[in-house]
Amino acid sequence: MDVSFILDDLNDKQRDAVAAPLQNTLILAGAGSGKTRVLVHRIAWLMNAYEISPYSLMAVTFTNKSAKEMQSRIEQLVGVPPQGMWVGTFHGLAHRLLRAHWRDAGLKENFQIMDSDDQLRLVKRIMKAFNIDDTRWPPKQVCWFINAQKDEGRRAAHVPDSHDPFSKGMKELYFHYEEATEQGGLLDFGELLLRAHELLLGNPPLLKHYQERFKHVLVDEFQDTNSIQYAWLRILVGQEGSITAVGDDDQSIYGWRGAKIENIHNFTKHFTEVNTIRLEQNYRSTGHILKAANGLISNNEDRLGKELWTDSGSGEPISLYAGFNEQDEARFIIEIIKKWRDKGTDLKEIAILYRSNAQSRVVEECLVREQIAYRIYGGHRFYDRLEIKNALAYARLALDPNDDGAMERVINVPPRGIGERSIGTLREIARDQGFSMWKAAVTIIEQGLLPARASNAIRSFLSLIEGMSVCIQQPDLGLGDVFEQLIQEAGLIPFHEKEKGEKGEARVENLKELVSAASGFNWSSEDEEFSSPLMAFLDKAVLDAGEAQADEYQDSIQLMTLHAAKGLEFPLVFLTGVEENLFPSKMSFEEPGRIEEERRLCYVGITRAMEKLYITYAESRRLYGSESFNSPSRFISEIPTDCIEEVRLRSQVSRPVSMQRPALNRPMNSSLSSLQQPTVSINMGDKVKHPVFGEGLVINSEGQGAQTRVQVNFDDEGSKWLVLAFAKLEVL
Ligand code: ATP
Ligand code: MG
Repeated sequence: MDVSFILDDLNDKQRDAVAAPLQNTLILAGAGSGKTRVLVHRIAWLMNAYEISPYSLMAVTFTNKSAKEMQSRIEQLVGVPPQGMWVGTFHGLAHRLLRAHWRDAGLKENFQIMDSDDQLRLVKRIMKAFNIDDTRWPPKQVCWFINAQKDEGRRAAHVPDSHDPFSKGMKELYFHYEEATEQGGLLDFGELLLRAHELLLGNPPLLKHYQERFKHVLVDEFQDTNSIQYAWLRILVGQEGSITAVGDDDQSIYGWRGAKIENIHNFTKHFTEVNTIRLEQNYRSTGHILKAANGLISNNEDRLGKELWTDSGSGEPISLYAGFNEQDEARFIIEIIKKWRDKGTDLKEIAILYRSNAQSRVVEECLVREQIAYRIYGGHRFYDRLEIKNALAYARLALDPNDDGAMERVINVPPRGIGERSIGTLREIARDQGFSMWKAAVTIIEQGLLPARASNAIRSFLSLIEGMSVCIQQPDLGLGDVFEQLIQEAGLIPFHEKEKGEKGEARVENLKELVSAASGFNWSSEDEEFSSPLMAFLDKAVLDAGEAQADEYQDSIQLMTLHAAKGLEFPLVFLTGVEENLFPSKMSFEEPGRIEEERRLCYVGITRAMEKLYITYAESRRLYGSESFNSPSRFISEIPTDCIEEVRLRSQVSRPVSMQRPALNRPMNSSLSSLQQPTVSINMGDKVKHPVFGEGLVINSEGQGAQTRVQVNFDDEGSKWLVLAFAKLEVL
């Protein structure tokens, strides 16, 4: 079979990389040089030229989204989907392994994954149970500590002893935490990796099976692997298999989360006979953009060192804009966006990047005012909402009554007469006896340890959950029906309906949305590790959250943090808030090496741009409620002067005036007038005040007449849909 078509559209070095012999290969190259492209082509090559079954390949990507993209690109290239291949993130793959071998991994069959929010809750609960002072050991810091240990592959028992009371306390908390997660069958993200590593290490036949199965492992964004991920790769590849890793040391931006840039440096030591290939031609950006990136990053020390070049011409210089404040900065950005849009650029080809999430709000307000669609990557997550988490907790309990986290969450939601005191007793017994809360509840009832009323309340909760366990096992019930029943039996709908005003209404709608999400959930045969669709759905809710939100189908401006922009590219990029204290961030001044990481982050930002890059900063900025005056970032002065030019549009500056706001196409006050209420005209972009939720910004509307609903992004409460006719909104 002629397979040379796979090498079309590649340059010589890329071809060398794609068709490299089946041995350990390290592709070390700068941004936009085609690393990800090479990885995809190499998979196609291995399947066709070396006739390796996709079943024997594993590819590790950085996000679930890029995993999907990789699969579809391979399919495009070779015409058939790569069936049986394992593609996913480190967490996703570790999870898959643990589901398949839960017993060998020492897990309960129905173990649950905790997100960072669940984790924090658990830590707080433990601290309460053991009377540990949360001012001396702030729970968030405890989570950081535990996660950092796990990233390094350390269990509580491996943490070195210390005489310092603080460290001692941390270690002790880690022990308690291990005990609680073990008992509840709970796994945090770090545990997925650590446990998957231990699973293989402690089970030689299983390890052998996978080593024989995966003939070749491919890893994208290798520079951001942490110690445990690296260790896992090493044992998986073993002596038999081989690995292709692609990475760029200049783009290592997760050091703060334990990523080890040394993993690239050590690669040739740890893997045998490594074939190292460098790519130097950049296909993404113009000459000016590339020169800026090269100039900036040359200020870092200890680089593996590489220069990127392009033959695409120098293009336009980078434009630098100094806003007099953050509003002016945002206004400038919108102005440029409108120009590009009017010239025919799709909105999705434009990205606005920032250092921290909080910076997006001002830009958002402007976009809304101008009615320009936008998406935020990693914004507020559906599965993070309180009512959704409650409903999911019922499902978790139905699967596994010993899930303490779920039990605590819903034992008295909706209120059923199980007060704090009863719950306290449950906790105590659970802790003293080493029971789950469920078992503690059974004990309390059996031994009559609580007054009759409390005891009865607990009894009826237990039988509610038992009923649910029966419900979820009915084979002919679809997942949507299961959730519908659980929500109904739990009484969540009337509970939220009773809540004051539109808050409850939005919650009820979200619960309905959950039912439809569950009905639409596809349980494919690929998921054979899961014993039930419900379990697969619950895990997906935790693992996929945050990424699912970005709607690929609607044309919209892409807003994201610099971290989230890794691996992506856009014709037009705005790098915003490029000021000292913000970027580099203030926190990075204290720790050695952190400024360099910030510089790499800036390098990532610059190299996302294909045609045109704008860098903006504000002379004064209101952020987190206070005003600061920062000087332009040092990174700006590190860019060679001949590829950047300052633009000044001060004469056009006008502060946004409420009078100028365009009205929505559809008058939103129609429902009000039809109800004979005082007419309040509300437009997109209006700042409004709600008696309960406080101040927020109108960002969307739908429906007509009495059904008109508006979406308001509240400063404190996040975004909510409100029925205009009932919401007592005051326009500010
Ligand atoms: P990053 O470091 O940002 O992850 P990368 O090295 O993975 O970048 P890719 O995303 O694979 O780079 O490629 C950058 C862009 O260049 C893509 O649009 C890709 O399609 C294009 N490209 C890469 N190689 C070639 C080539 N030989 N011919 C044409 N276009 C190419
Ligand atoms: Mg890439």
